[in-house]
Amino acid sequence: MSPRVSLVSRPCSICNNLTDEFNYGVISCNPCKMVFRRVMKFETKFDHCLCGNKKSTSCRCCRFSACIAGGMKISCIQKYKHATLIQNLIKMDHKRNNTFFNYQMCEDLSLDQLMISGVPKIKDQGVRFTSHDWVSMEIYSTIEFMKNLDLVHILTSNDLMIFVKNAHFKCAIFFIAVRSYMAKMEFMTFPDNVDVFPEEISNVPDYSPKLLNRIRTLLISKFREFDVSIEELLLVVTIIICDPSVAGLSEFSMNVISQYQRIYSSALQAICQNKCKASWPTRFTNLLFLSNILTKTIKDLDDVVVLFKYHQPALPLRKLVKDSF
Ligand SMILES: [Zn+2]
Ligand SMILES: [Zn+2]
Repeated sequence: MSPRVSLVSRPCSICNNLTDEFNYGVISCNPCKMVFRRVMKFETKFDHCLCGNKKSTSCRCCRFSACIAGGMKISCIQKYKHATLIQNLIKMDHKRNNTFFNYQMCEDLSLDQLMISGVPKIKDQGVRFTSHDWVSMEIYSTIEFMKNLDLVHILTSNDLMIFVKNAHFKCAIFFIAVRSYMAKMEFMTFPDNVDVFPEEISNVPDYSPKLLNRIRTLLISKFREFDVSIEELLLVVTIIICDPSVAGLSEFSMNVISQYQRIYSSALQAICQNKCKASWPTRFTNLLFLSNILTKTIKDLDDVVVLFKYHQPALPLRKLVKDSF
């Protein structure tokens, strides 16, 4: 060992081998750095543990988990710099819109079936979508958006399911509001002026038009009030998606999801600082508060669905929608 190395050598925070390097925010040796970097850049596949959970340094899965537990920062990876991050979200949103407008579900799938084998087909020419059809595509394309997030590659299939189930429906509702707002509408609607509520709602005797209107307008009225940009909306929805506090997640996944949530929050904060200078904290808080407005909208929607189920038990709600209540 050279004198220089022995002077500054410390145990690697991940594997305890002596090192004089500092990578991704922690003292760490070169091999640990390379494992972290290759998994994060998807140069190698993040496999499941192959060593029987013996925490062997030759097991990429265990070593990568140790990198996360040891404090290596995902935010130090080049592609998570703010500009690149936002460009990627915009690309993912284009893809989501393309799926939403141009595809249709082949059959009525539950969420579990959809996660395993659900692939939509190109939309038949001249087909007229009802709100049931649109809502299915809204949910499908939201799940596709979620599955295009980088962090999905490093979650186990069990944690991925928990991650998707927690946010797919509420974020589909958020995306209806985003698209309607971007189309300069003051209320949530599907393309061709198809209402977000199915026609059958008029058969429910004591439904409240006021409640339905609040559901259609609440989120969009806040988007308009804060004059939000598409970049801000995509960051907000991704922060909502990356919720580390969902019950049932492994500690490893909680740690990864929470790191990603901080990365997206810090990008949103940077946009607010750019826009508002000194008063940025108010804007940042207002934008994060959209998550509470979404929760309120979902709560209202819940009340409508209860009424619906009571008065219209035979209503042909799609499995994807039924599964969400
Ligand atoms: Zn190491
Ligand atoms: Zn292992």
